[in-house]
Amino acid sequence: MELNQEHIFIVRCGEVALKGMNKPYFERMLVERIRKLLKKFDGVSVKRHEGLIYVRADKALDKQAIIKEISKVFGVASISPAVECESTMESIGRAAVAYMLEAIDERGIKTFKVEAKRADKNFPVKSPDIGKQIGAAVLKGCKVLKVDVHHPDCLLFVDVRHDKSYIYQDKIAGFGGLPLGTNGKGLSLLSGGIDSPVATWMMAKRGMMIEAVHFHSYPYTSQRAQEKVEELASLVATYCGRFKMHVVNLLPVQEQIVEHCPEEETTILVRRFMMRIAQKIAEKNGCGMLITGENLGQVASQTAESLIVTDASVTMPVMRPLIAMDKVDIMDLAQEIGTYETSIQPYEDCCTVFLPKHPATKPKLEKILESESRLDCEALIDAAVEAEEIIDIFPA
Ligand code: ATP
Ligand code: MG
Repeated sequence: MELNQEHIFIVRCGEVALKGMNKPYFERMLVERIRKLLKKFDGVSVKRHEGLIYVRADKALDKQAIIKEISKVFGVASISPAVECESTMESIGRAAVAYMLEAIDERGIKTFKVEAKRADKNFPVKSPDIGKQIGAAVLKGCKVLKVDVHHPDCLLFVDVRHDKSYIYQDKIAGFGGLPLGTNGKGLSLLSGGIDSPVATWMMAKRGMMIEAVHFHSYPYTSQRAQEKVEELASLVATYCGRFKMHVVNLLPVQEQIVEHCPEEETTILVRRFMMRIAQKIAEKNGCGMLITGENLGQVASQTAESLIVTDASVTMPVMRPLIAMDKVDIMDLAQEIGTYETSIQPYEDCCTVFLPKHPATKPKLEKILESESRLDCEALIDAAVEAEEIIDIFPA
């Protein structure tokens, strides 16, 4: 028997399925997002049916490439390449044998177990019996195979539905989360480091649309350092779609701080300016929150005291999804999403320009405000925003 003339992928929604009244909305957003990512392939259709999403693709298309794209969509819990057949025991049995013969060829499997489920309760055979009968058909059709109910090489799923039935083996895990565009828009402070791309990704994973701001201190920081950030942004965009990145020169602000304020306060003062400039850009661009890669205790500017003083510089909520994570776990996640290798390239960051020898680790807000009173903060912030450059970031 010929298996299907097209690739079929069953896509399961994770948390999306839990959203009660909003469920259809979340599912629609998810389908839309999958369609968008698969647009580059000719001959793909995406349809929603009975709580699952079915992706059909021309057989000539690269199956793995399609799986890779779908797995990048937030809200996808898992993906199974499947074969489709009529919902009769005979047809399911034939499809199961053909499917297993192919699996024996491709993967050299020796044992299997059938896991049957009938979504259509009117189907005349109950699930355990479907399992037994299909198991028997496979044993008969594939002489080399044996049943192993404890540690099978292959768990063969049989999903009997009203109109069609599906047979599959793998459940490839997606990232879960919620479809993009279901949770507002945030402005991410994106450096060239390991943390902020991961933080951005995590917020996008909760359905948040992204815009970014990057600060540099040109000519103290190089053009190449900025290109690295653009590269990172493009990698993040493969998940959250094309976005706008605001690029701001922080040097005029830094020079004023260095000239008028105590050296040990430089770091915290610079951070407060970054936040205020970001907030202004966020307000102008319809972003309701700021996102940073800050992590409690990682560096001088991220002690509890420093975070309190940083936070006091803005009124907008600041999302810090990495706040309680360990560095190794952040690094693992950076590896998994594909930003790590770019992040560790050694280029200078504006934060390392004018780095004080002994940064204050327990800054006091009153003292910091006193230092800031020597500067024309509003004018500096406005000028920085005014001079911003905007870069269109496309998925890598
Ligand atoms: P990262 O790995 O994200 O660079 P970090 O551990 O180096 O973080 P900091 O340099 O203290 O920590 O920066 C903390 C956060 O401030 C970053 O995660 C990022 O959100 C923001 N940030 C730092 N530098 C910049 C920059 N040049 N442009 C934009 N945002 C920045
Ligand atoms: Mg950094």
